[in-house]
Amino acid sequence: MFDYQAPSQLLKNKVILVTGAGDGIGKAAAISYARHGATVILLGRSIKKLESVYDYIDKQHLPQAAIVPLNLDGAAEHDYIELANTIETEFGHLDGILHNASLLGERTTLANYDPTLFEQVMRVNVTSQLLLNQALLPLMQKAGSASIIFTSSGVGRNAKANWGAYAISKFATEAMMQILSSELASQSPAIRANAINPGATRTSMRANAYPEENPDTLPSPEDIMPLYLYLMGKDSLEINGQSLDAQ
Ligand code: NDP
Repeated sequence: MFDYQAPSQLLKNKVILVTGAGDGIGKAAAISYARHGATVILLGRSIKKLESVYDYIDKQHLPQAAIVPLNLDGAAEHDYIELANTIETEFGHLDGILHNASLLGERTTLANYDPTLFEQVMRVNVTSQLLLNQALLPLMQKAGSASIIFTSSGVGRNAKANWGAYAISKFATEAMMQILSSELASQSPAIRANAINPGATRTSMRANAYPEENPDTLPSPEDIMPLYLYLMGKDSLEINGQSLDAQ
């Protein structure tokens, strides 16, 4: 596991947007960021799941969260602009984005891949990240030092048979991170962009990809949080353009 012990108030007064915050790794990251002092904006498509994370944060007396129900599949440019306007009105700036939401798509050959599903996976896993960044970068420039974290995968570095659109979307995510990090590095105040490969983690996506696997053998989303905290907080100010392993 990535070796980092986050100070308890690492993210005090920070405002952080987490996509796919209702389940799996995104849920654990949102709660972990709140535990370390951040106000988290919970973005996802299932309002019920977002509300349950919101309620949990509330019951723990952590900084009050905000909920943004948004289906990244159908979202249009104006939805992202509306989101940016809401964040500006409520908080004035944005310190971090964790791009975490993703679709697995089909596990099949490219020859058999459904083109409609291919486009859906690319919209959710890639295009939505571009649109979110475009809408939110001005708000991140208003923060002292902001951090953008993308979520990669082992197959985003070495693609394998039957990983189809998902692997292609993760290669694209790595490229987006590299391009953005170099474009933003020269700006002041600098915004850093990095990627995390979570590694095999006990979530419903993993169970769908590997139905034969015993989930109890895998680390939980909570176990892999040290790298998520490190890249979001001030101890990683010098890290930019890197793709790191959480495990
Ligand atoms: P989950 O399937 O458990 O969670 C994915 C989240 O993304 C859910 O909250 C889901 O919302 C959300 N989401 C999916 N589609 C949309 C959409 N159209 N609009 C808004 N939100 C959406 O997956 P994990 O927690 O396992 O994955 C988190 C990230 O980690 C992903 O980027 C994944 O590719 C990556 N990853 C995971 C690994 C693992 O072993 N778990 C390994 C390598 C990478 P809802 O719950 O409403 O469906």
